[in-house]
Amino acid sequence: MKSNCIPENSTEASCIVTDSVCLPNTVLPRIVVVGGGFAGLALVEGLKNKEVQVVLIDRNNFHQFQPLFYQVATSGLEPDSIVFPFRKQFKGYGNVSFRLAEVTQIEPASNTVVTDKGKLTYDYLVLAIGTKTNFFGMEEVERNSLGMKDIRDSLNIRHMMLQNLEQAAITCDEDERDALTNFVIVGGGPAGVEMAGALAEFCKYILPKDYPEYPNTIMNIFLIEALDELLASMSDKASIKTLQYLKNLNVQVLLNEAVSGYDGNVVSTKSGRKISAKNLIWTAGVTGQIPEGINQKHIIKGNRLKTDTHLKVEGMDNVFAIGDIAGVITDETPKGHPQVAQTAIQQGRHLAKVLLNTVQSKPSKPFRYKDKGSLATVGKRKAVADLGKLHFGGYAAWLLWSVVHLLSISGFRNKFLVGFNWAISYFTYEKSNRVIIRSFKRDAYMKASLKYSSNNELEKDVNPKKSSIDA
Ligand SMILES: Cc1cc2nc3c(=O)[nH]c(=O)nc-3n(C[C@H](O)[C@H](O)[C@H](O)COP(=O)(O)OP(=O)(O)OC[C@H]3O[C@@H](n4cnc5c(N)ncnc54)[C@H](O)[C@@H]3O)c2cc1C
Repeated sequence: MKSNCIPENSTEASCIVTDSVCLPNTVLPRIVVVGGGFAGLALVEGLKNKEVQVVLIDRNNFHQFQPLFYQVATSGLEPDSIVFPFRKQFKGYGNVSFRLAEVTQIEPASNTVVTDKGKLTYDYLVLAIGTKTNFFGMEEVERNSLGMKDIRDSLNIRHMMLQNLEQAAITCDEDERDALTNFVIVGGGPAGVEMAGALAEFCKYILPKDYPEYPNTIMNIFLIEALDELLASMSDKASIKTLQYLKNLNVQVLLNEAVSGYDGNVVSTKSGRKISAKNLIWTAGVTGQIPEGINQKHIIKGNRLKTDTHLKVEGMDNVFAIGDIAGVITDETPKGHPQVAQTAIQQGRHLAKVLLNTVQSKPSKPFRYKDKGSLATVGKRKAVADLGKLHFGGYAAWLLWSVVHLLSISGFRNKFLVGFNWAISYFTYEKSNRVIIRSFKRDAYMKASLKYSSNNELEKDVNPKKSSIDA
């Protein structure tokens, strides 16, 4: 087999031809990292210019800053300010190669990773593949709503929202206008709360400027949560404050309520409520999406990989898992660690040390998670913070939230863009340009719209005029 590989950072003239994904030839142990999210990136940073070959595989050529997806979705930020290209990130990382590919299968018996572009072998494999939106098996809801787990999801939400606001100006049908301007967010965790707050701010400050023909009561925002409180992972104080902040922003919060169906027009809940809405944003849960080839016995609740305290997948010799996909189950953490950026970053950094020790046959300390606290913002200038025993909210928490997020974004340019946008928005309440660059289309969504317009009587049975919520 003739190699056409371009040796990278290597004095060797040829590449390893047993792999169909071309890689630089090396005698160093090869660590293949799948996923360049918070966990994968922290790991690669920890292995920078060390005596190992690192290959990062990701289906995107960029890292995504998920905590600010909601700001892209509501036109607060442009997408390129919260994503960062791996090749730019790895400038000066002599031992790191990036390959754009999607991993579909693992073959542990032959230490091989199968991707949509070809195969490659590893000495150590790290799965840092994160999670996807969990619709809990409700296919109809999945077809008709939008999750928020990828920058493309954020753009879809933005386009759906702007298109529906435009369509609301066109239609003469009041029922349809109600549905087009009603927004339902499912899930009262940080993502749902932050999305609801940002939409409420959009409604308060942008709607009157961009759509002077609408009354300012036209946009209804509902936040549905199955538990009896918002931000259940934070303190009671944070949950109560958040509920109050959202109520002040006119968000209708429905606690102890679970969505049971959504056909693109009407949201149904388990208690029998019907909410007429053409905008449903689903942030109610995540689940792992594990490539084929991993024995089911290693997969636990939430589709996470059961890993030990050295972040090794239980029962596998040289396969590790970090970040959202890893379930480190111990007596202290029977449900694993929280699926947040801090866990992912700490696990990535820790695994870098474990792997470097492993290749030198040295022992490693077990992973211990240090909870540095939690923050969530609720609209502009309000946030809640839990820092150890300290719980506070309001402007100080919002300032802290802003600084922490700004410092965490990759790259000087991105920090500058986000900081600049926030400064403009702080003083003027302006957002990014609300432009529909590409139209958002969804088959089921379009079918539902057609059904709506061709059979209004039928819809009126489940979409009683004006009563946005029907208990
Ligand atoms: C909307 C939203 C808001 C959030 N807000 C916060 C917050 O405020 N604070 C906080 O701490 N956490 C927050 N989180 C959670 C946080 O973003 C996650 O815990 C964190 O991203 C997990 O990091 P990870 O590296 O495990 O996975 P991810 O960051 O999800 O990265 C996974 C990577 O793997 C790649 N990948 C996946 N499968 C494959 C495959 N088969 N082949 C190749 N590549 C693959 C993906 O492209 C991605 O780059 C939020 C999450 C969301 C969705």
